[in-house]
Amino acid sequence: MSPDPGARVVILGGGVAGLESLLALHDLAGDRGQLTLVSADPEFVYKPLMVEEPFDLDPAARHELAPLAAELGVRFENRAASSVDPHHHLVALAGGSELEYDYLVVCLGGRYRPALEHARTFPSTDDPLRLDELLRQEGPRHVVFVVPLAVSWSLPIYELALMTQSRVRGLGRGDVQLTVVTPEDAPLAIFGPAASSAVADLLSGRGIDVVTGAVAREDQHGTLMLTPGDRMVGATDVIALPAMDGPGLDGLPADDDGFIPIDDHARVRGVEDVYAAGDGTDFPIKQGGIGTQQADAAAEDIAHRLGAAGAPQPFHPVLRGKLLTGDESLHMKADVTGGAGEGEASPDVLWWPPQKVSGRYLAPFLYHGAGGAEPEPPRRPLEVEVSLPKEWHGEPLSQPARRGS
Ligand SMILES: Cc1cc2nc3c(=O)[nH]c(=O)nc-3n(C[C@H](O)[C@H](O)[C@H](O)COP(=O)(O)OP(=O)(O)OC[C@H]3O[C@@H](n4cnc5c(N)ncnc54)[C@H](O)[C@@H]3O)c2cc1C
Repeated sequence: MSPDPGARVVILGGGVAGLESLLALHDLAGDRGQLTLVSADPEFVYKPLMVEEPFDLDPAARHELAPLAAELGVRFENRAASSVDPHHHLVALAGGSELEYDYLVVCLGGRYRPALEHARTFPSTDDPLRLDELLRQEGPRHVVFVVPLAVSWSLPIYELALMTQSRVRGLGRGDVQLTVVTPEDAPLAIFGPAASSAVADLLSGRGIDVVTGAVAREDQHGTLMLTPGDRMVGATDVIALPAMDGPGLDGLPADDDGFIPIDDHARVRGVEDVYAAGDGTDFPIKQGGIGTQQADAAAEDIAHRLGAAGAPQPFHPVLRGKLLTGDESLHMKADVTGGAGEGEASPDVLWWPPQKVSGRYLAPFLYHGAGGAEPEPPRRPLEVEVSLPKEWHGEPLSQPARRGS
């Protein structure tokens, strides 16, 4: 008799949430899950490092998915999913074929679109931003960095502003004014008062103006205006983060903006055996670390249903953000559901490995897979993000000591 191949678990998307789901399920479900990864893109793109592209023109780090899947012994389909038939447990792929699943994890990310018609949108594949080129142009400039309304993850705009200031300083230019415009009450208010005030101090120390509580819009001539007050800004260059829509995959429930509704175990509401994680869900904060936490909740629930793991933990959102500044980075942490104080901010590393996207499985994978020199290890207690063997997930202290540990 041939061995049981295990339940068919299909993961759609090879981004942050998709890779975390894959690595977590590979560990937690083991032989009880027969994994398939489907991705339209052949590579995992490390989006958080895209903020460096406008300065050094090097593309953000990428990892090919086919060799990774081969290393894990999972099937890889480099194709787009076009629809799901939850009733028959089928995914339709571009090109006409279908995949059967017992469990499906949907990690298709969001769809960026420009929030302001006349601004430079960052990131944008059509019109890549080149801040170095912009700063080589002669004459006074006022560069305005905009967080549009409804953008929940504003960190990249602060990174761009700070890194631009660092370049301006290096070029010795005294005729470049930098301003951030944001609807937030305070810079990066999502991290709580302590971190937000550290970011405000950093910006003001670098001479970057910040206009908070302001919604940016364009008048009929494309001039940037701020509401309330209908103030003109007088910018020479406007750089704005994009708005985001959900993936809206045919056959799955979605809200008015195309985001997939999930519960706190990342189960898609209204359909059986389908999970979703990451930017494409209806959770309001579109951030990589949050996406990995949803992916972990989905993987734990599936592994539990396969009889391979104990009781699954619900998704508990904790934000960890590493702000690149062109100088020393600032690390911030906050429990989004509150009750854990004012949040934290420190130039010291607050979690380990110190990846921009924290994630129980993804952070160690990116850290060790990067092949670079080991950064200076921390000298004080830190939260450590490691992919513990699954038998440790329940009660680590009850496990026999391992050789070398
Ligand atoms: C400039 C920038 C800076 C950021 N900084 C940080 C940061 O410092 N920290 C942090 O935690 N987060 C950061 N983020 C946010 C983070 O990158 C996203 O939250 C994260 O990438 C979302 O992960 P995801 O898996 O949901 O989507 P994505 O990473 O976008 O992956 C989606 C995947 O789905 C695939 N796909 C899409 N459609 C289909 C289809 N129909 N069929 C098959 N495959 C499909 C894509 O090819 C891709 O592999 C940043 C984002 C940007 C843009």
